[in-house]
Amino acid sequence: MSKLARLLSFSLLCTCLLSPCSAHAQQTSAPNSDATYKQLKNITLSEAVEVKDLTLKRDAGSFHLLSGTVCFLAPVAGKITGALFVGDGRFTIEPPLATERASLKLLTKDSEFVENFQQMVVRFTDGTYDEIKKNSGSSTHPCDGGLLQDNLQTVRKRLRYNLSARILQDVLSPPDAGLFVAFVHGKHYSDKMVFAIDPHGAPPFAEEIYRDFAYALPLAPEEVELMTYEDNKHGYWSAFHLGPEYTSGLATGAQKNGFYQIQHQELEASIEKNGFLSGKATTSLISNVDGLRVIPFALFQKLRVQTVTAADGSPLSFIQEDKNEDYQFSVILPKPLALGEKYTVITGYGGKEAVIRTGGDNYYPIARDNWYPNNATGGLGEYTSYDMTFHIPKGLKMAATGNLVRESNEGGENVSVWKSAGPQTVAGFNFGRFRVQEAKLTKPEYLVQSLANENPPDWVTGLQHVANDDMPSQGSHITGVALGTMGTTGLIKKALAEGQLAVEMYSDFFGPSSFKGVAITQQTSCNYGQSWPQLVWIPMCYFFDTTVRHQLGMDFGDRGYWKIVTPHEVAHQWWGHTVGFSSYRDQWMSEGFAEMSASIYLQVIEHNQGKFLSFWKDEHELLTERDEFGFRGVDAGPVTMGYRMNNTRTGDLARRLIYPKGAYILHMLRMMMADNRTGDQNFKEMMRDFVKTYSGQPATTEDFKAMVEKHMTPDMKAAGDGTMGWFFDEYVYGTALPSYKVDSSFDTNAEGDVVMNLKLTQSNVDDHFRMIVPVYLEFADNRVVRLGRVRIAGNNTVDQKVPLKGLKEKPRRLLINYMADVLAAN
Ligand SMILES: [Zn+2]
Repeated sequence: MSKLARLLSFSLLCTCLLSPCSAHAQQTSAPNSDATYKQLKNITLSEAVEVKDLTLKRDAGSFHLLSGTVCFLAPVAGKITGALFVGDGRFTIEPPLATERASLKLLTKDSEFVENFQQMVVRFTDGTYDEIKKNSGSSTHPCDGGLLQDNLQTVRKRLRYNLSARILQDVLSPPDAGLFVAFVHGKHYSDKMVFAIDPHGAPPFAEEIYRDFAYALPLAPEEVELMTYEDNKHGYWSAFHLGPEYTSGLATGAQKNGFYQIQHQELEASIEKNGFLSGKATTSLISNVDGLRVIPFALFQKLRVQTVTAADGSPLSFIQEDKNEDYQFSVILPKPLALGEKYTVITGYGGKEAVIRTGGDNYYPIARDNWYPNNATGGLGEYTSYDMTFHIPKGLKMAATGNLVRESNEGGENVSVWKSAGPQTVAGFNFGRFRVQEAKLTKPEYLVQSLANENPPDWVTGLQHVANDDMPSQGSHITGVALGTMGTTGLIKKALAEGQLAVEMYSDFFGPSSFKGVAITQQTSCNYGQSWPQLVWIPMCYFFDTTVRHQLGMDFGDRGYWKIVTPHEVAHQWWGHTVGFSSYRDQWMSEGFAEMSASIYLQVIEHNQGKFLSFWKDEHELLTERDEFGFRGVDAGPVTMGYRMNNTRTGDLARRLIYPKGAYILHMLRMMMADNRTGDQNFKEMMRDFVKTYSGQPATTEDFKAMVEKHMTPDMKAAGDGTMGWFFDEYVYGTALPSYKVDSSFDTNAEGDVVMNLKLTQSNVDDHFRMIVPVYLEFADNRVVRLGRVRIAGNNTVDQKVPLKGLKEKPRRLLINYMADVLAAN
């Protein structure tokens, strides 16, 4: 954005849409004007020292400074926050987790990680200065200012992380800080490598793969990360908790090490016809640390902050750099907050690209969970209560998270007020020229609404012109799109019916959700849906038929997700919103459980065994086919690596892993727990207990494991040592993929009963691998009956004669994986 354009958008905000104009008259601080912050941003070098055979041990990383010169940065507020090293150095890392060591090995193809370097830039607020100083001698070597400048530029423009703002917190605060960020110019693996430790969550550097959105994967609450930022090698190589936390029990996704928590948000947003959003957020938070001075918020980079005040109206200093650089918004408090102290920040902001007008009164909210100042610290799964007011152009309709309190159409605008039913994970909205249909359910009491735009967005209209040949075709592959199928309002009914049935079925299987209603809305982006508390976005292309989607060249064709978009997204009302997920390690449960829920929908609601099985065939294919880089979701890493799996070397692997494998994990449990007499009763009891126990709070993978153990059947118990460790180690924390071969024949014994000769072979596993394999009998009339389960361990064959007492009719054959029971190679 040019300077002029920015000034113009600023002036738009001064039309005082949100608050009386007098509020703007008060003094506000200019952004980035804090004197200490400016010193950090323009940091220079100071003294140089010589080091020899000095080892800096920082958690799993060791920096051996064999010989060389260290130049310290100039002190800021009496604290030295960094140093350059030039000389002979060696960096080694030994992650505390076996899975992390394995994945590092996969990336480096070496058994040990050893990187030699001649240059390194370190930023720190821990004891590094004293440690080096104590073990060094005087130096006459000149310091390389260029190395420092390069680093400052890299962090700002490439990693797009405001490290100066983060360091400011520790500089302004009492001294128990522990930040350590090393930029290693390695010679073997990469000269663009970062090893970072932040006790408040590893720094969220920009992810190359999502660069357009400046999306950064939150690794928090994990504190340690290793990443590279080269064009062809961008991504996380490893991440984990601090070493001692693995023994103290703190090393879980539930750890609350963020600087603060948001308790309540009062949000007011005006969106103009052109999509310009003006917002005012009154954010009530509580400090998680003693001495909080700098509050880091997640706010979409194109939403620019104008004013920040405290509850009493006094202006607060704040930081927000250029939208294309280290844009993160932080507020600097006049005095530190004590642990547990509450504070309210009021932010006035606005920008024109957070919501995009896509034509035909369709709007697309680009800024999804950061259209308001959200928490940028700690893990996912924070629950906050919301009061929201939206102003949108007259004639349009808003659908937002929470319950609609009131709505009016006055003075050229539509105003709606929303209140969250209770603390919820996130707030969002969707609006447009919506047509609405609704259905009231009684069991459970629930309101399902379906909303779709009366008019197509421009990109669809464009396609229609191309297809009608009334516009010159660009030789596009989409010529000939069948048009009658591209309208959406006719399909409101389909989404409504699916939503209704899904809510009823999930309420039975999983128990009540936290909500009493959901609005299923069409969104103009083609290729993804999203679920919010009480709100669902269904991607436009779902409303098209499969031929049109195919012609549009949809990424995953018509497999998996596309058959079940509505049931999947509605299931997130349970998985992700009623039960939240703590960290990226636990996100497989959100996506996987939603995906698996949809398979039950196909089976129970649509009564369609064929669709059910073809759903699992699709999931199996997604997991086991190689992507364009040659990686397969099923063995590239465990589901607990979540979206960290995505990097420029492996592609968009997370999509091929956490959805289908997460689904399989839950499905395998369902199959292990199924009973010929009581059906899904065991499984339902476990899931209802899980939802009830974690309703309105986040759950970790380990919480779920404990819940499975609480409800495991005698079979499951007997398979292991009385825990479900065996299963979680194989499929959740591991990448096992067994192969099976089954042979059977049938004789008759003296009593005339059928005797089954069963031979089941399990292979391609390690000796510890064990499984419960459900077996089925298929009869001459095509009936299939579950006979029982075979427990098998290691690379082995179970060879048994089983008399089937009372059975006189010889079955046609014995089947395994009739219900896609076990995720296996075949
Ligand atoms: Zn999903």
